[in-house]
Amino acid sequence: MHPTVIEINKKIFENNLVQIRKQIGVGVRLLLPIKANAYGHGLISVAQLAEPLVDYFGVACLDEGISLRQSGVSKPILVFGAIDEEQIRGLVENNLEITISSMYKATLVHEYCLKYDKKCKVQIKVDTGMNRVGIRPESFNPLLDFVLASSVLILTGVYSHLAMSEATDKWVTEAQITSFSAIVETVKVRKPSVICHLANSGGVCYHPSSYFDMVRPGLLSYGYFPGENLITGNLAEISPCFSLKSRVSYFKVVNKGVGISYNHRYHTSEMTRIITIPIGYGDGYRRGLSNSGEVIIRNKRYRISGTICMDMFMVDIGSNGEAYVGDEVVLIGKQGDQELKIEELASKLDTIIYEVLVGFNERISRVVV
Ligand SMILES: *Cc1c(COP(=O)(O)O)cnc(C)c1O
Repeated sequence: MHPTVIEINKKIFENNLVQIRKQIGVGVRLLLPIKANAYGHGLISVAQLAEPLVDYFGVACLDEGISLRQSGVSKPILVFGAIDEEQIRGLVENNLEITISSMYKATLVHEYCLKYDKKCKVQIKVDTGMNRVGIRPESFNPLLDFVLASSVLILTGVYSHLAMSEATDKWVTEAQITSFSAIVETVKVRKPSVICHLANSGGVCYHPSSYFDMVRPGLLSYGYFPGENLITGNLAEISPCFSLKSRVSYFKVVNKGVGISYNHRYHTSEMTRIITIPIGYGDGYRRGLSNSGEVIIRNKRYRISGTICMDMFMVDIGSNGEAYVGDEVVLIGKQGDQELKIEELASKLDTIIYEVLVGFNERISRVVV
């Protein structure tokens, strides 16, 4: 096996879901967003760990839903994304719940099901302030009427998405909650069993009034907090289950004043020891971390030396540095009493944790430990 792996800590991940359950209380369902390869954690292995602990899965697109069904997942799966007409068949055949955001799409699904004598579970998405997909609240009632009147569409849920739930300034979220509450009232009169849901991770952390019948925390389930605000109680027990590890693959001694890697963007300041780590931007370890990213080896932190290549990068460990071929290298996670948080990488790359996580691609194996 390639020495570079992403380790998913089963105990920590499971505990995150348990703590979220405690926070939301009995009676509120839990949907695990598992899109984008489960936020880079590995779609299938995460689904298998999570299935006994969650009520629903959420994916972005048809292909992700099919992969889950093919791996044996039987819990309900909601496809968040707007769908294409050609995808209706795949969605229906794989028992995936379709997001309906317009009368046009509702009609397409309705007609498909009539034609092929099928039934299909759907959820209506309302736009309460994200201004992305979703029917506007003022157009909601006719769509609701249509879906409820259809003999082939089964309405299982109505949902909306929060635009800035992690912000310290709470008024936008509060306005969205108010707008969604009015929708929920209308729905419950017509069909009480419909699952109404709004909260993402920020909603779960900072807005208990956004819980309704189900919550959809993605980032939080994987162990990260979406905002800077202080977290107390059950959620404080949540922690990252993701580590990125490799092994030293090469060791050499080089002279003082030597340029290292492409374009010689790093020069040695003494005769020193240079080691190579077999991961690069071709795996999703971003080139923007050249000369700035850090690693932990033998309980010590070192800075990356020079440009990150497609498949490897180098580290100057100094003339007395101790690191040899085969030694474990931690790029994200803990080793001994040292910890390298993904937040550090995100901040050096001027991005968010989400983007760093989903950037790690299929070249790196995911292992559950
Ligand atoms: C991705 C997604 C979520 C999860 O968002 P987090 O910020 O990771 O909690 C929830 N709902 C929808 C519709 C999403 O697309």
